Amino acid sequence: MEDNKFKLISEFNSALCSFQSEQGSINRDSSGVHGSKYASWPTLREATRILLTKHGLTVVIHPGGTHSEPTLVMLLRHMNGHIERFETPIFLPPNVKPQDHGGAITYMKRYLYTSVLGIADPTEEDLDDQLYKKEQNESYDKPQCPKCTKPMKLRSSKATGKHFWGCSAFPDCNGVLPKDG
Ligand SMILES: [Zn+2]
Repeated sequence: MEDNKFKLISEFNSALCSFQSEQGSINRDSSGVHGSKYASWPTLREATRILLTKHGLTVVIHPGGTHSEPTLVMLLRHMNGHIERFETPIFLPPNVKPQDHGGAITYMKRYLYTSVLGIADPTEEDLDDQLYKKEQNESYDKPQCPKCTKPMKLRSSKATGKHFWGCSAFPDCNGVLPKDG
């Protein structure tokens, strides 16, 4: 029994090893808002699918966790039946707009996939990670409109050149806040 389990894990590991040694670099076909290049999710999937299959590996990614603490679960399965399960929390900053959830989830999906399969360039990935956090912080720091509670945008006065917060729903809403500093 133990011997058989060891055999399955060792087959799994050697398949993953072969995959990693044969997988070339993946075309970074997308640009982040700060100019960083990354491979989009469809490109990642397409570039790895055939080689994974060749080595008897399949990947399933599905949502997990709870409503308040969502996660992404990745199952990496070898054709011999061995399955490895990986799970990562999805960090959604407070007040994140529902339409931005998709972006955060896709980001975590790419992150999980490349980390588990070992196909990420670590320096690039770290950079992406920092940029992601920076973006999240920036949107988190935006004040809410005092009139309609929508997020505000940084604007500058044509007359004085000074920056101020204006409602993102302008011209429907003319809420403003002073910008200090
Ligand atoms: Zn407003």
